Amino acid sequence: MATMNKRKMKVATRFSHSIPKLVCPDGEDGLLISTKYLNRTLKVDESSMTMSVESGVTLRQLISEAAKAGLALPYAPYWWGLTIGGLMSTGAHGSTLWGMGSSVHDYVVQLRIVTPATPQEAYAKVRTLDNSDPNLDAARVSLGVLGVISQVTLRLQPLFKRSITHLAKNDTNLGDQVVSFGKQHEFADLTWFPSQRMVVYRMDDRVSSNMSGNGLNDFPGFRSAPSLVLEILRTAEENQETKGDADGKCTDAKLTISTLKSSAYGLTNDGIAFTHYPVVGYQNRLQASGTCLDSLKDLHITACPWDPRVKGLFFHQTTFSISLSKVKDFIQDLQKLIKLEPKSMCGLELYNGILIRYVKASSAYLGKQEDGLDFDITYYRSKDPLSPRLYGDILEEVEQLAMFKYGGLPHWGKNRNVAFHGAIKKYKNAREFLKVKEMYDPLGLFSSEWTDQVLGLRDGVGIVKEGCALEGLCICSEDVHCAPNKGYVCQPGRIYKDARVCTRLTSSQ
Ligand SMILES: Cc1cc2nc3c(=O)[nH]c(=O)nc-3n(C[C@H](O)[C@H](O)[C@H](O)COP(=O)(O)OP(=O)(O)OC[C@H]3O[C@@H](n4cnc5c(N)ncnc54)[C@H](O)[C@@H]3O)c2cc1C
Repeated sequence: MATMNKRKMKVATRFSHSIPKLVCPDGEDGLLISTKYLNRTLKVDESSMTMSVESGVTLRQLISEAAKAGLALPYAPYWWGLTIGGLMSTGAHGSTLWGMGSSVHDYVVQLRIVTPATPQEAYAKVRTLDNSDPNLDAARVSLGVLGVISQVTLRLQPLFKRSITHLAKNDTNLGDQVVSFGKQHEFADLTWFPSQRMVVYRMDDRVSSNMSGNGLNDFPGFRSAPSLVLEILRTAEENQETKGDADGKCTDAKLTISTLKSSAYGLTNDGIAFTHYPVVGYQNRLQASGTCLDSLKDLHITACPWDPRVKGLFFHQTTFSISLSKVKDFIQDLQKLIKLEPKSMCGLELYNGILIRYVKASSAYLGKQEDGLDFDITYYRSKDPLSPRLYGDILEEVEQLAMFKYGGLPHWGKNRNVAFHGAIKKYKNAREFLKVKEMYDPLGLFSSEWTDQVLGLRDGVGIVKEGCALEGLCICSEDVHCAPNKGYVCQPGRIYKDARVCTRLTSSQ
């Protein structure tokens, strides 16, 4: 019906977790096609170790259904409230440099996608793509612009056990160690607390199923929190921002980090208590978590910390991958920047620091182009888009360093506009992707002005207006893009002189 009426469309999922405006259809009368009821497991084939699901199935369901059949998805995002359709469309991943890598879409062996079609075809075409079809590499990571993915078949592995130990170290040699660490441990990742000069190495490997242990992961950041506590924490953060209280943020960050450490980052040895490392357990109990999903029906007395229905976390996320060959220099540039402003990263440490994960090159046209490290940086966002943030200039410089000096690739489901500037030019098969888009949806019904800009079909991803750089809508080129009336003007970066950031003028400048 929508194709017949040339109406703009987008697929919407049950929890809609992407941060950029991927999900918004163009105009005022766009149609949202929900996958909420596409929530069934269709087939689990133990002999071929494949599982077919509808696209609205959550990662949580997939993990649990696979485990019942003695199977496991080897690598996955850490939060299980994502749908298979949504996480594929944004290229979501876990962490590994081994095998076929950590992106779920690289384990897809077949999918079914419904695309617009001609009147003779009754306006809709159901296409089944498998590994022998090159168009699968467009549909693996599609940003939702090709049509509606309705079914997905994934290649799984026999269920296995893992053994996890966290080790905290000083971050001085991080740049030297990061690549070899990923090669040593199959599920390695790192959490970096740059202002505390500390990095937590997760030594995480596959072990024999005979090894005893029934460990469980229930990451504290994905647990239910009382709404009242969330409100108190948010108000405290807002006050620190208003007063420019960097010391307060650093004190709170230390407390957050020590609480995380003493709670073993949510790991328990038996589902009840943490007593010692290593934590050994089955993949389905360790690979992802998200118990706050169970709190949704209690009138919001408790909630997921980022639930917009309560006054809780409100943040920006800057997430990009840097190729292995460049990552040491990138980390060292970051360390130089932090040396100039040692307290500048306390704010993001309140959001569990910088999560660093391993990703591998993918055949997906919009997938990772090289093996690399994905940096996940979460930080305070003001409810007032014209309000400058504490050390906002440093974070803007990190963002521009990553994307422009080091050629970082954006996570499609996260980030502010800045990260998508010219991004499409970094994908060698972007043209192939656009050919498939033209074939599947020639009228661009699943596209919006924003996705066209991101895909290079229209100029400019940014929105240039007063204060636009504060929200990452643009890179400043004039003071008016910052907040000159509050003393914030557009200046070059501190160590990356090509960066343009909103810096507060001090009396000496
Ligand atoms: C708490 C939290 C933790 C996260 N953890 C990770 C992580 O560990 N690793 C990681 O890589 N990412 C992570 N993410 C980001 C996440 O991967 C993306 O935001 C995500 O993939 C969105 O999935 P979704 O099901 O919510 O899809 P949505 O955000 O609803 O949709 C994303 C896009 O896909 C399209 N789409 C959805 N379903 C279909 C379909 N069936 N057919 C066609 N198009 C479709 C939508 O139209 C939209 O354009 C996390 C996000 C949050 C909020």
